[in-house]
Amino acid sequence: MNMTAFLMEHEAVLRLASFFGVFALVAAWEIWAPRRALTVPKSARWANNVGLVVLNTIVLRLLFPAAAVGMAAYAAEHGWGLFNNLPIPLWLAVALSVVALDLVIYLQHVLFHAVPMLWRLHRVHHADLDYDVTTGARFHPIEIVLSMLIKFAAIAILGPPVVAVLIFEVLLNAMAMFNHGNIRIPRPVDRLVRWVIVTPDMHRVHHSVADDESNSNFGFNLACWDRLFGTYRQQPRAGHREMAIGLSNYRDPQRVNRLSGMLALPFVGR
Ligand SMILES: [Zn+2]
Repeated sequence: MNMTAFLMEHEAVLRLASFFGVFALVAAWEIWAPRRALTVPKSARWANNVGLVVLNTIVLRLLFPAAAVGMAAYAAEHGWGLFNNLPIPLWLAVALSVVALDLVIYLQHVLFHAVPMLWRLHRVHHADLDYDVTTGARFHPIEIVLSMLIKFAAIAILGPPVVAVLIFEVLLNAMAMFNHGNIRIPRPVDRLVRWVIVTPDMHRVHHSVADDESNSNFGFNLACWDRLFGTYRQQPRAGHREMAIGLSNYRDPQRVNRLSGMLALPFVGR
């Protein structure tokens, strides 16, 4: 069996294993060295956030059983996209694809903040009253489906190797859990690491109730996009312990941290 066939066959298992592994690691880190005190009871919040993740996983697998790697294989078969028509070594195509896909995710994130209808969906992610590993995976199912369609389009245009798409999916998922972690990393270490990748302190700024702060630090993997496009903000004004997380006008835990409330959130309010 060649590598592509192997990856296609085991994609779901590889992704699930990395999800559970990284989730357990960050969850343990949060207990060992928490960054902030949580403001709402953890067990109820976790049950609902994780419930949403389970629902999203089922929806995605039902709608797109072959997932993004399936799209990459289809594009390769039909000679679609840049890298399927560029005579460059595989390793280079993989590296460039992962970086390009990360740029797409950055731009998509900016778009979900800028377009009112998309923001209605994305605010489910932002309405979480606390910020921890489960925040990193809580998105409205419609946002998850739209993200997948955008990814399909990007794959059709880029023609990335199948292995690059799998690496990217695993990385994005792992990084989302890491940089939403309620974990303490010494300031000097954070300062070094965030030259390359997005750290929890960097991304937490994006979850501030203050509009100017939430409209910064859109990156999920590479830290360069925010610096490059001028959306980088070093720290929250109030400090990481004191800053308020969430949305200023949606603060009822019954609504924003209950599964039913989260699913309904895009459709309420003006
Ligand atoms: Zn956002």
